[in-house]
Amino acid sequence: MKDKIISLLAAFETENIGNSFPLDYCLPVYHCVSDDNLPHIKHIIQYKNTKQFEEDLDCLSKYFQFVSWSEFKDFVKGNFKPQKKIALLTFDDGFREFYDTVLPVLERKGFYACNFINPAFINNQELMFRCKASLIIDEAEKEKIADPEIYKMLSMENPSKEDFKQQVLKISYHQRDLLDQLTEKMGIDCDTYLREHTPYLTTEQLKTLTQKGYGISSHSWDHPKYGELSLKEQMESTDRTFNYLKENNFMYESFAFPFTDFGVKKDFFDELFKNEELFCCFGSAGVKLDSVEQLFHRIPMEMGTSGKEILKKEIAYFRLKKIINKNKIVRK
Ligand SMILES: [Zn+2]
Repeated sequence: MKDKIISLLAAFETENIGNSFPLDYCLPVYHCVSDDNLPHIKHIIQYKNTKQFEEDLDCLSKYFQFVSWSEFKDFVKGNFKPQKKIALLTFDDGFREFYDTVLPVLERKGFYACNFINPAFINNQELMFRCKASLIIDEAEKEKIADPEIYKMLSMENPSKEDFKQQVLKISYHQRDLLDQLTEKMGIDCDTYLREHTPYLTTEQLKTLTQKGYGISSHSWDHPKYGELSLKEQMESTDRTFNYLKENNFMYESFAFPFTDFGVKKDFFDELFKNEELFCCFGSAGVKLDSVEQLFHRIPMEMGTSGKEILKKEIAYFRLKKIINKNKIVRK
């Protein structure tokens, strides 16, 4: 219902997105761009292919000016006066496709991007728990006869493939052992998958990206949902990643929430910004303001539609929320 109203309103948005965009900065977030079928991502993220990604970039660059990290910082401090509203391109999760597929496009166009990575997965040491969920769903879809034992592990009895998928997607960070049990039961060897497909960037690639001027920054240690963690757990994951970035001479001035900042309370931000070397952090609530001034919200660009459509919807939604005074997240 909500989505239908937004789509309807978006249809009335003007063609000049640059004028109607309500903020003076636009922060798109992607995970992956690929022309291939990627079983470890396809059931959790609707990633775009190269053509769709380039169309997004062309649309964005028509209305916005892409900036580098230092320009973004200067802009926030009021020391950078852009010609258009600015856009800072960001990528999460540190997938290898950033190096193989995205980098050539960005180098050709001369655009900067910042990568928010999880050190636990760099060099293909481990697969993020959600990627394991994607592999499980992929395997289940291929199988003609399902094993009732597998359903039993999820307390399900003869579910539809869709119900099974939804149940697997519900498995949280704290329940991630269950995903390991499921992969084992289904004969999915995550270590072999990591070795054969190398889904993540390597330290070598991160160093090359840094040399080329691209940002490598924090997305937490191993991608927990922060709203489900205690303050102590939140800070452990954050500090450990900060130290890793600093040791490797990567960019330790920013942090992007894994999944979402939803449910994260003010006490975390108070603790986070005790670290004076941290400039800001990023959420992904779309076009939205926040009572935490150093928290900037990004626009998820992998929603199954074109970048232009996504921006129009975001503009329409922001306008709607403004009427009812709900366009700012207030943390307590
Ligand atoms: Zn992520």
